Amino acid sequence: MKFEDNIRNYIYGELEPPISGDYIDNYNPSTGEVYSQIPDSDERDVLRAVKAAERAFPAWSNCGVKKRFRIMMRIADIIEQNLDAFAKAESTDTGKPITLSRTIDIPRAQSNLRFFATAILHFASESHYMEREAVNYTLRRPIGVVGCISPWNLPLYLFTWKIAPAIAAGNCVVAKPSEVTPMTAFMLAQACKEAGLPPGVLNIVHGHGHKAGQAIVENPSVKAISFTGGTQTGKKIAEIAAPKFKKLSLELGGKNPNIIFADCDFEKMMTTTIRSSFSNQGQICLCGSRIFIEKHLYEVFKDEFVKRVKKLVVGNPFSEKTDQGAVVSSAHKSKVLDYIDLAKEEGGTILCGGKAVDVPKFEKGYYLEPTVIEGLSPTCRTNQEEIFGPVVTLIPFETEEEVVAYANSTEYGLSATVWTQNIGRAQRMAEKLDSGIVWVNTWLTRDLRTPFGGMKSSGVGREGGWEALRFFTEPKNVCLHL
Ligand code: NAD
Repeated sequence: MKFEDNIRNYIYGELEPPISGDYIDNYNPSTGEVYSQIPDSDERDVLRAVKAAERAFPAWSNCGVKKRFRIMMRIADIIEQNLDAFAKAESTDTGKPITLSRTIDIPRAQSNLRFFATAILHFASESHYMEREAVNYTLRRPIGVVGCISPWNLPLYLFTWKIAPAIAAGNCVVAKPSEVTPMTAFMLAQACKEAGLPPGVLNIVHGHGHKAGQAIVENPSVKAISFTGGTQTGKKIAEIAAPKFKKLSLELGGKNPNIIFADCDFEKMMTTTIRSSFSNQGQICLCGSRIFIEKHLYEVFKDEFVKRVKKLVVGNPFSEKTDQGAVVSSAHKSKVLDYIDLAKEEGGTILCGGKAVDVPKFEKGYYLEPTVIEGLSPTCRTNQEEIFGPVVTLIPFETEEEVVAYANSTEYGLSATVWTQNIGRAQRMAEKLDSGIVWVNTWLTRDLRTPFGGMKSSGVGREGGWEALRFFTEPKNVCLHL
């Protein structure tokens, strides 16, 4: 399997150009060069995809879970057999280090498919017995045609995280990857063809969010939308979908606190905090961008952290030595640099980084220094707004109450990390933090059975495990009189 110059839509089992014949340039962030073309699809392509999904739905929803299991496992196997090609495509499209694509992104896409292929075999529903009168049972049926829309930071990882539970539960899908990083979604279409997925079960329409994406949300035959992306886009989608009474799952932005108490395991905390700050150039919704450090550890933490951040290697994503590749686009690079300027205006001190990096032979690529800032108030814009790049701030605190108030002060509530050896304190913090995920003495440890999602402006609903299968099915209570 190899990636080709012209990406095509995947509709009713065929790879086809957009009806308009128009394309969008696809950039390689590591070189700043256009390297492929993306269909600039519109509502006509979406309509074809929806009709294809409607046509496939009766057979797919009734073919039985074992058939769905077998085909999904085959798709996962094909991705695994083509690991290197998928990883190369993901790093070319996103600028992330190849080591990350090969060990995290692509293996996780395989796991998503295998997890939900097997989960559907074990999915069960409740029954409620009324003594000598009746028995109620919950019948869960697939919804029909559903829409899955995903962002650019973890392209195949998040795309399959939505598609896998949707098709496992018997739905047919119209999906749109980000127009910034569409290549592995195109390769997924090729894998689905090879695996024998029946035409129309999964349809992939490429293009801009405001055109192709919005057409999916607006289409009356699409009964549910699973979306991951920015909070502003989530609001827009909710405005369109809510009056049409569509089921909605929204996974949105974050501004996650990383809270470090002085009694932590220092080495474990330090190694993990480097990762939680800068993995994928800080472009993971779960990165801890606000680091709160207990006051009497602050100077020790700062010295060691800055020393290690300065050693991170920024450069060619295809070198095995690279820690930090390119950020995803020129526009995103400018946005992050604007936030660094804002931090300075707000009185912050740049402890390291703060500038673009010129990588020899990759001068037009979008590289940024990992940046550490101190001296900002927890309520300033830099500490309230999502930057989504390799930028963290350091903030000292004295008491549990104080740090909980700082941590909860943003509009977001996606994830939080707490470092302490005191189990009572860990439990108190987990109760008080307003976030959908609380990691204690770890970061990004993921069990796919657990509920995943955010509070406040970080989202509505939960993905993962039974939550996802419940989202993609409609419960009916059947009451049998005895
Ligand atoms: P984005 O909101 O710009 O785009 C996400 C997707 O929505 C893309 O496919 C885009 O084309 C589409 N889209 C845009 N406008 C649309 C519209 N009007 N109607 C329908 N679809 C539309 O987000 P992004 O910049 O691609 O991703 C970064 C954001 O995603 C960050 O805020 C990050 O925190 C968030 N994110 C959240 C999670 C999570 O699990 N909560 C995971 C990853 C990323």
